[in-house]
This record gives sequence, structure tokens and C-alpha cells, in this order.
Amino acid sequence: MAKIRFRALEKALRHKPVAVYYPSDKISDYFGINVLDVHKMKKYLSKDAYEQVLLAIETGTRIDRKIADHVASAMKDWAISRGATHYTHWFHPLTEGTAEKHEAFFELAKNNEVFEVFDGKLLAQQEPDASSFPSGGIRNTFEARGYTAWDPSSPAFVIGKTLCIPTIFISYTGESLDYKTPLLKSATVLDKAAVNVCRLFDKNVKKVFATLGWEQEYFLVDEDLYNARPDLILTQRTLMGHSSAKDQQLEDHYFGSIPERVMAYMQDFEIECHKLGIPVRTRHNEVAPNQFECAPIFEEVNLAVDHNQLLMDLMARIAKKHHFVALLHEKPYNGVNGSGKHNNWSMATDTGINLLAPGKNAKSNLQFLTFLVNIVKSVNDYCDLLRASIATAGNEHRLGGNEAPPSIISVFLGTRLTQMLNFIETKLNEKVETDQKTGLKLDIGKIPEILLDNTDRNRTSPFAFTGNRFEFRAVGSSANCASAMITLNTIVANQLVEFKKEIDLLESQNIKREEAILQILQKYISVSKKILFEGNGYSQEWVEEAERRGLPNISAAPEALKAYINEKNISLFVQNKIFSERELEARYEVYVENYAKRIQIESRVLGDLAINHIIPTAVQYQNKLIKNFKGTKSILGKENSIVEHSADGIKLISELIHSIKIKTQEMIEERKQINKIESYSERAMLYSTKIRNFIEEIRNYIDNLEMIVDDEMWPLPKYRELLFVR
Ligand code: ADP
Ligand code: MG
Repeated sequence: MAKIRFRALEKALRHKPVAVYYPSDKISDYFGINVLDVHKMKKYLSKDAYEQVLLAIETGTRIDRKIADHVASAMKDWAISRGATHYTHWFHPLTEGTAEKHEAFFELAKNNEVFEVFDGKLLAQQEPDASSFPSGGIRNTFEARGYTAWDPSSPAFVIGKTLCIPTIFISYTGESLDYKTPLLKSATVLDKAAVNVCRLFDKNVKKVFATLGWEQEYFLVDEDLYNARPDLILTQRTLMGHSSAKDQQLEDHYFGSIPERVMAYMQDFEIECHKLGIPVRTRHNEVAPNQFECAPIFEEVNLAVDHNQLLMDLMARIAKKHHFVALLHEKPYNGVNGSGKHNNWSMATDTGINLLAPGKNAKSNLQFLTFLVNIVKSVNDYCDLLRASIATAGNEHRLGGNEAPPSIISVFLGTRLTQMLNFIETKLNEKVETDQKTGLKLDIGKIPEILLDNTDRNRTSPFAFTGNRFEFRAVGSSANCASAMITLNTIVANQLVEFKKEIDLLESQNIKREEAILQILQKYISVSKKILFEGNGYSQEWVEEAERRGLPNISAAPEALKAYINEKNISLFVQNKIFSERELEARYEVYVENYAKRIQIESRVLGDLAINHIIPTAVQYQNKLIKNFKGTKSILGKENSIVEHSADGIKLISELIHSIKIKTQEMIEERKQINKIESYSERAMLYSTKIRNFIEEIRNYIDNLEMIVDDEMWPLPKYRELLFVR
């Protein structure tokens, strides 16, 4: 049996770095070459059509049918010039991946003449059968149709020989079945709410964009080793494997020199990213062996999300060429760090201001503080929803581990800003001009100057201010960033609307604007203080302290997901027109069903491996030991300590084999019971509380066996091989 493992190892060790071909010495020569951006579009369109497209991108206006025909024809001509023969509507269903169904451009005319066809109708809307995508009960069998509709704000692109058109995906009855629809809605409400607040400070602001810069962590594993691990193939994580004697304890991998074979892979996928206009810029090793990270320059949130989805797809495809598999799972290996996807988020105005960058004068600082404090308050009020937005079966392994932010949502601001908020909260009523103690200087009026120390970093906080943006670190590596971004945009938008109302009210009572703003901020700071935490988020003291503060600490994903359907959060989403109640319930259904199914698959795979791979190997080795025992006994006699010792060894193996058998049987029985329950919500809870424990327990027995059984016989590639061969 071990043959498979050794053959895989031999093949893996033979893999050499693959040669990388650069299209040119300068990235700028080929950046975006496969993207139909507005500049390229200009060449193909009339002035009228071009202006309508620009307007649609900027303000979301509808593009009429005639103009859509022009755009379609432009797209077709450009795509064919880039080698495309097919087109597809490209969308993000609720499966964490992307979906596409390719159609050829060609069509036959009456006399069998072949034409390349693509018109406005085909561009604007398609009707894929929605029945194979998760819908949480929205789609019923007799109305399986769904619609995809063109999103002009994200440019079309060519991959291979296919033109991909970013689209939203909705049901026949108009409910969203994807991530993009609510993301676009949330960006729009945030835009409106933030513009209204900006205009308290600057009348020229007309638009506010949410910005996102994601940092994508991942593992690479040799493809042959991967293929020898059914658990990796079927669940993207190892369900067993004793830790390697050496893994990350020497901290010698982080920022270390990138291995040659990995470097070739990174260069290759970066080239493809750049051709597709994805501005990836940073690459480095991560903490765990064979773990890496890449990050782009930030972009407008909708584009950034599309780009991250595209990147994950490219990473997987290009890995094949280099005989690697890119693991995006949050926890592929026990005992070493898992992978996250930090979402760096801010807001920018059309006048070029980053609203989370502290300003140079009192007025812009007051604006900065206004946005900052409103965000803090929104996180305080909706921390349960932010927690839900990142809850998946994979991420459950990470949150609260000793390497990732805890399941408790809190906000880190750094010493300076904390002082500042304390100052506003406590001192504003006093007449202070300079505060000698803290050294905070008062500019005009009452607002101190803000000097930020960028080195003031706290890596243990799930939601940290990092100088000119917030970094939401608890997002999982395989997640669609949209889930977290929809929630963040919505809660902040909602809060800004509230804030504006409060200001209007005070102003109507003849309170001066600055005074009004400070009064409200002061109130917000006092009511949201419990969410602020500057200490070590990984510590047990924080868990206790958070409990005293009444902050939720929910480690099980199915429990966290319930926040989507509580009254407070339903009314938030409904009022802001992001989701209807039905859409939220459907989404919740999709998520809990997905959770239950994932754990079910893990449990099945583990059962199969335990019974059909591990136990037969252990029995074989046990028989070898028994033979040896009999021989030794016949020479040394029964009453000998060496003989007794080998009897103990055999007993230990027998016990482990027995425990694995019993526990696997119990797990299967438990699964049968759970699967009888109709509600996926209940099933998910039970999978989380019951089946996950079985999985861990069985794994422990197997990992103990791994340390005893002859290495020559062990059937699955070991951690030291998976983590260090490259
Ligand atoms: P670090 O590891 O220190 O967090 P990285 O360079 O790995 O830094 O990633 C920082 C990410 O934050 C990048 O993707 C960057 O583009 C992004 N970022 C910087 N400024 C903003 C901003 N205003 N809005 C959104 N993202 C930002
Ligand atoms: Mg970061």
C-alpha cells in the first residue's frame, strides 16, 4: 500500500522549476492587455455610446438596447482580436467559486453561411438554468430559470479563448443568488450615505467609493503528493497526519527566500494576473512551511472582489503547469498556521481623499474622526453580523486558534487614536487648549492634531486600524471577499445615515456644526467603548475580559450564522434594501446546508481512510510484530522483559485499531441519525457539536498509530513530506 506514497514522493522530488516566459521586460507593456477597459472601448464606440457606458459605470444608469448592441459588437471585435472564439457570462454564485457557461460566437445563417454573432441582448442578459446553483429554497423545481445580467462597472476580459463578461445572478423572481448583486447594492448605499456626511465638510464631494486591498494567503503542495492524499483531493485539508518534527517553530520561513520552483510559479501567475489587469504587487513566504501570500494594490471594492475571484481561479490553473496544487483552504494542516485573507478596507472620494487618512488640518481631521468613530460604532452595534459574514466550516478551524484573530470581534485603534477618542470623550467639555500630558496639540478649536505612528501594529486584532484603512483580518482564505464587504459597507452606511440625521436635528436647534459633530461623536465613543481593545487578542485574559464586556464569542460557524436572521439584522438589510427577508433566509439556508455537507464529506472521507487504508496497514504491521514476538519468545522465554515489552507494543496497536473501529462506527451511526433531521439549520448545529468531535478523536488515534507503524508501510504522504517537498 505504501507503494503509492513512495511513488508519489519519487515523482515529486523529480519536479524542477518550470521555465517562465515574460511577454516583455516591463509589466506596463502587457498590463491589462486581456481586459476591455474604457480606454480600449473608446476606440470601438461612437461618442454617444461611449458616454452612455461611462455614465453607467459611474452612476449605474441603464444602457439602452441600441447602445448595448454597439458595446456587444465592440466586445466581440476586441475579443476576437485577442483570440476568443467563445463568450460567457461570468458570475459568483453562492458556492465560493465562479461560474461560467461558454457559448461560441458563431451562428449559421439560412444558407449555412457561418457568422460571428454577439449582440446587445446576449450581452445584457442570459438565462442559465439556475437549478444547479445553491438558492436556499428560492428557486423551486418548476421555475428553475435564473438570470445573469451584465455589470458594466467591471470590465470584460479574455481568458484563454473565452470572453468573460462579469454579471450579477438573480432568480426568475428577482432575488439575488450571488455575491455581486448585494455587493453592488451595498456599495451604492455606502456611497450615498458617505457623500452626505462628506458634504458637511466639503460641498464638492459627489461620490464615495469603498476600497478594498486583499492579502491572499495560500499553501502549495506538490501535485503528486496531493494526489496520494484522498482527504486533500476531496476536502482540501488533511484529515490526519502527525505533526512534522520540524514545522514552523524556528520561524525560519516567514519572509525567507522564496524557493526556486515556487518563484517560477509566482512569476507565472503574476504575469497572467497582470495581463488581466489584476494589480498584484507583493509576494512573500508566510509563517508555515510551504505557505505564501500575495497582495495587490487596492481598488474599488467591486473590481477588487472580481479580481480576487479571478486570482483564486488563476492560482489553481497555473499551479497545475508547475506540478503544484494551490490550497486555499483555511486550515489544510493541523498544528501549523492556517490561511486568511486580510481585507484592507477604506473609503475614497471622487475628490481624491482617503476618508481614513488623518488630515493635515483641523477640518479634515474632524472629517477623519467622524468616519472613524462612525465605523467603530457600526462594528460595535453589528459585531455579530461581521462575525457571521466570515463563518464557514473552513474558517472555523482558524478563528480562535493561536494564529488567527479570535472569534470575538473587537476594534484596534493604536495608542494615539485611543488617546484621541478618550480625549474627545472626557475632555471636550473642559476648556483645554493644549494638553501637556499627552502632547496632543490643539489646532483650531477643540480638535487635536493627529500624528499616527504606522508601526503601531497589533496583529492579534480581527479588525485593526492600520494608519489609513481598517484591516479585517478574520476573513477566510477561500472566501469570496464580498461576503465580508457587503456587511461592512452596509453597517457603515446605515450608521452614517443615522449620524447625518442626528447632526441635522442639532443644527435645526441652532447648534453650530462643529459643536454638533463633536457632541455626537462623544456620545458614540461612550456607547461603543466595549468594542475597543488594544491588548493581545490571542490571550485567555481577553476571552474572559470580552465576556465581562458582554461581547459575543461564538466559535461554531452554524451558531454565528444565525446572526443573519435575527430581527435586528434583518431590519438593517431590509431597510437599506440590500436583502429582502426572503433573500436573507435563503442565504442562511445555503450557508448552513453548505456547512453540514462539508462536515459530512469530511466525516465520510475520514471513515473510508480509517477503515480501508489505515486499519489494514496497522493490522499488517501488527501481524509482523506478532510473528516477531513469537520468535523472540521462543528464544528468550516468556518471562523476559524484552518479550513483555513487545507484547505491550502489540497491545497498544490493537487498542488503537479497536478505538478507530469503534469510533468510526459510532460516527457513522450518529451521522445517520442527524441526516434524518429535515432542517439544515439543526443538522449543521449537530455536525458542528457531534461529528466534528468524532473527526478529531479518530484523527488523534490515527496520528498516534502513524508514530508507531513502520514508515515503509504508511500509506499516505506524511506532514514532513507535504510541507517540505518543493
Ligand atoms: P501588510 O502586510 O503590512 O498589511 P500589505 O502590503 O501586505 O501590508 O497589504 C496591504 C494591503 O492594503 C494592500 O493590498 C494595499 O493595497 C491595501 N491598502 C492600502 N491602502 C488602502 C486603502 N486606502 N484602502 C484599501 N486598501 C488599502
Ligand atoms: Mg495586512
